[in-house]
Amino acid sequence: MFERRHTRQITVGKVPVGGGAPISVQSMTTTKTADVEGTLQQIYALAAAGCDVVRCTCNEQEAAEGLAQIVPRSPIPIIADIHHQYRMALAAMEAGVHGLRLNPGNIRKPEHIKAVATEARDRNIPIRIGVNGGSLDPSLYEKHGGLTAQAMVESALQEMNYFREVDFNLMKISVKASSVPLMVEAYRLLADTVDVPLHLGVTEAGPPPAGLVKSTAGIATLLLEGIGDTIRYSLTADPVEEARAGRQLLEALGLRERKNVDLIACPSCGRAEIDVIDVANRAQEAFADQKLPLQIAVMGCVVNGPGEAREADLGIAAGNKRGHLFVKGRNVAVVPENEMVDALVEWAEYINEHGVEAAIARVDTTLAEREAARDRSQLLSEKGDDANHAGEKIVEIRKTVGN
Ligand code: SF4
Repeated sequence: MFERRHTRQITVGKVPVGGGAPISVQSMTTTKTADVEGTLQQIYALAAAGCDVVRCTCNEQEAAEGLAQIVPRSPIPIIADIHHQYRMALAAMEAGVHGLRLNPGNIRKPEHIKAVATEARDRNIPIRIGVNGGSLDPSLYEKHGGLTAQAMVESALQEMNYFREVDFNLMKISVKASSVPLMVEAYRLLADTVDVPLHLGVTEAGPPPAGLVKSTAGIATLLLEGIGDTIRYSLTADPVEEARAGRQLLEALGLRERKNVDLIACPSCGRAEIDVIDVANRAQEAFADQKLPLQIAVMGCVVNGPGEAREADLGIAAGNKRGHLFVKGRNVAVVPENEMVDALVEWAEYINEHGVEAAIARVDTTLAEREAARDRSQLLSEKGDDANHAGEKIVEIRKTVGN
């Protein structure tokens, strides 16, 4: 599809990053890290939602002590987020974390940076240089006349140079900004300058849906150019939503194998025989925690639905107060309207276990096809081809204009 940029590879715990490894999904806990049970609960929920690596803040001694208990019980690698105190980075490594994130704008003394990198080198722990547009070293703002892509990249390169002075190379970099065009420009510039893995994100993207739109705009643009090795959606929301969004983006772009249901649904129109939004939402909820790698369609009418969604593994289309189930475009069953979602779940589980062919073979498709044809022709004769009554409207418009 599109060529990935070649980078060196590092590993965070057991998760490889860069060097052609699958793009990983990251998120960050919102609990106090000292709250061991609460944090672990969130980490397990994140892992179930598709998160590969999780970050926890390490801002005080209690947090570092919490990490010492969280790391051995976590199902996924833990990265400690460090801002102002380099000693917290040393404490987090002592706690056994799999990686660190340092903000070069907040820890600026070269001797502190090098002390952390030296310890990380000896322990074989990777570090992300996490440049953030909002907390850039003031001297770089001044030098570049404000926040620019060049200023952010220079911040990352300065940090890299300190790392190299102590022979530390296990790094990845992020240059996040809340402005999508700015972060895209910064990552492009960085990708042309270094060969280390890149962690993508739009910082402070805000609550959904705007936060989702901004993050997707920035992250997807770069991924489609082959840039990016690990991603994080920074949403003002339950972090599980971040992990889901990251996973869904990678699956939609074909960059990660599908693990979850890809629910497609028609946008509804004047032909719709059901409340498509309601049925699609209920189906989305029913499939949310199911690991079924299937494309499932919810279509508003049997007139166009099965044809338009014929590529889906499974679908349902409404007609005459009934739901017409179809598998790969073949009608297989008719169910009452209020059982549509339950029927989808039952058929999806069957297909997942036995495959599409077996699902089609278990029923008499002629019967289902005949019923669908009957409802289709009844709907066509009732509503005609002009479901939105455009013809009548045109007559009215002509009368109005004619007057
Ligand atoms: S499937 Fe039917 S209801 Fe849905 S958009 Fe198409 S014509 Fe309209």
